Amino acid sequence: MPRLPAASDDERALVAVTATVRADDGVARVRLTDAYVRALERAGLIPIVLPPFTGSESEVAAAVGRVLDAVDGLVLTGGEDVEPARYGAAPSQHLGRTNPARDQTEIAAVFAARQRLLPTLAICRGIQVLNVALGGTLIQDITSERPAALIHDPDAARDTRTHPIQLVANSRAARALGATTLLVNSVHHQAIDRAAEGLVITATAPDGTIEGVETREDDAWWILGVQWHPEEFVRHGGAPDHGLFAALAKAIQRAGVATP
Ligand code: MN
Repeated sequence: MPRLPAASDDERALVAVTATVRADDGVARVRLTDAYVRALERAGLIPIVLPPFTGSESEVAAAVGRVLDAVDGLVLTGGEDVEPARYGAAPSQHLGRTNPARDQTEIAAVFAARQRLLPTLAICRGIQVLNVALGGTLIQDITSERPAALIHDPDAARDTRTHPIQLVANSRAARALGATTLLVNSVHHQAIDRAAEGLVITATAPDGTIEGVETREDDAWWILGVQWHPEEFVRHGGAPDHGLFAALAKAIQRAGVATP
């Protein structure tokens, strides 16, 4: 019989990646866009799916806490609209599909990540749910609430760069991308309205739409949040967006070194 090692000597960091539940051939299935998994693998990380849990708030928080105890970082992924009640708003008629179990799980994940100082990368819905969890608000529908805004949900392939953003020089995002301007893809009809306390706005579109937030350098909790979808460029060699995943991997490495 072949001898198997008692424990793996693989030293790659584990990252919890949030997911949704969606009907597929009439069957409810946990789903996550494959590009997130590939982009994290490319950065040398091992992604683990964190599905929407159900139960009371304390049960969900306990379950999420167990998962986050076992990982080194968190990625909040794209998806449904956050329930407006979560930020004290009545639903707009332009509100899209919501997923209360996912809201509950991901908000618990934000708190658990903060408690554990787990480096956190937030993408699209991720930046929105992160902002709501920390006390900020959202624009429920850009087109109806900001008629002068650019088109942020064009009819284009997910990896088509459709609008520019401006980044704050020397911000975490600008350093990760190696640029202070970037043409990005845009697959969202919601955006951050009021940014939560503790989050610094580091990227905006020309119409003022918030496209990136992060924590301050002196904040012990590393956060990088973007409104676009950097994972969609995983197969585009040389895309600056790879730098965001590399930045997460580096932050995890640094956090590991700092831990006694
Ligand atoms: Mn956009």
